[in-house]
Amino acid sequence: MSVTDHSRAAAAFIKDEKRTDWHDETLWFVREKRDRAAHTVPEWETLRQLASDIKDHTLSELDSYLSLFEQRAIANGIKVHWAADAKEHNEIIYRIIKENEVRRIVKSKSMLTEECHLNEFLVQQGVEVIDTDLGERIVQLRKESPSHIVLPAIHLKKEDVSATFHEHLRTEKGNNDPQYLTEAARQHLRDKFIQSQLAITGINFAIAETGGFVVCTNEGNADFGAHAASVHIACMGIEKVIPRAADLGVFLRLLARSATGQPITTYSSHFHRPRRGQQMHIVIVDNGRTRQLGRSDFRSSLKCIRCAACFNTCPVYRKSGGHSYHNAVAGPIGAILSPNMDMKKNADLPFASTLCGSCTNVCPVKIDIHNQLWKWRQVLATEGYTGKDKTFMMRVMATILSHPALYRFAGYSGRWLLRLFPGLFESRKLNPWYREREMPVAPANSFRQWYFKNKQKNHSS
Ligand code: SF4
Repeated sequence: MSVTDHSRAAAAFIKDEKRTDWHDETLWFVREKRDRAAHTVPEWETLRQLASDIKDHTLSELDSYLSLFEQRAIANGIKVHWAADAKEHNEIIYRIIKENEVRRIVKSKSMLTEECHLNEFLVQQGVEVIDTDLGERIVQLRKESPSHIVLPAIHLKKEDVSATFHEHLRTEKGNNDPQYLTEAARQHLRDKFIQSQLAITGINFAIAETGGFVVCTNEGNADFGAHAASVHIACMGIEKVIPRAADLGVFLRLLARSATGQPITTYSSHFHRPRRGQQMHIVIVDNGRTRQLGRSDFRSSLKCIRCAACFNTCPVYRKSGGHSYHNAVAGPIGAILSPNMDMKKNADLPFASTLCGSCTNVCPVKIDIHNQLWKWRQVLATEGYTGKDKTFMMRVMATILSHPALYRFAGYSGRWLLRLFPGLFESRKLNPWYREREMPVAPANSFRQWYFKNKQKNHSS
């Protein structure tokens, strides 16, 4: 895979200028809502620090908290499974499905199951899973992946949704009324919920002290699924555990405000034990997380609570769309989590950033995202994943910049070439940096020449 994959995919997204502007403006609107919500909480910065400290502490004692969580969950009547990787996670879930002879399954939004490609795996085994989050159902019907962790179909306009529903749910052609479309989705999903035998949900927070867990949704689909089905499987990455129930308030206050600017998520559902006659399973997944924990520069990325504030503020994400990141988790946080999973495949992602630091400024758990993006670039360059042309150009630049005479000659030649053959630098093939930019007019002299000329002038005056 080439290191320019993100820019190529982004170029395809940007072709539709109107959609790009709308995507950019919509996400910026969410970012502004987040700002207004944060400003209503005077102790916002204290909360961020507290959340960051709790997560740091938990990561430093992760094994103990996970063991405690397991013990308490088992005592509550929940079956706990451990999965080293995505394959094991998918196999555990398939085994539970087979043991229970289940055919109708609903799933609420879980980025972990996206990361593990659970739907594709189950389809290969002949099992169909219905995504019940509205945005997720829309992208599932279109055979696409979510483009945003909180707003999975944010890349689509209501006209796209109308066409998709017309094709799959037989709604009226060309009827773009959001109320009408939502009602159609509601009726379609209601049947799926009622008929489902097994529900899969994610976990936002697993509480070591109680062995319970919390799932946050705005649509109540996790609750409906879990309460209607006789088997509930909840999946979590190992980083989702927090020590005490008392810590929960810190995260719930930060999560909804950072994600959508709401004071609280509409449904923050607490699950502690299966109801009578129901089976409840928790699958705890590593899938590369302990490796990231061992990377001292990147371990704090595991503090993420998946609010997507860093997506909504990122000028690159807003303009390039989530699919350009070719990873379950896109945006700035995806760009620092994904190289840990596969350096070769995801070597382009830490470069998909301006390093402006806006992501770090909004992150509710104070992850130094832009520093980690910069550090990944260094790791990837050292490990040889930055591509031959970039490596070659960096070596050329290093040689030029460390030899003053060569630097002066290169500057002179560059100005001369720019004046005589401006088209050469604007060649999209030779100079991709200028694809979306205009070349400056070459100055007559270098700064050095200007400096010496003016120095002499100042001395003589
Ligand atoms: S890195 Fe921070 S801002 Fe980005 S999704 Fe995670 S918690 Fe939210």
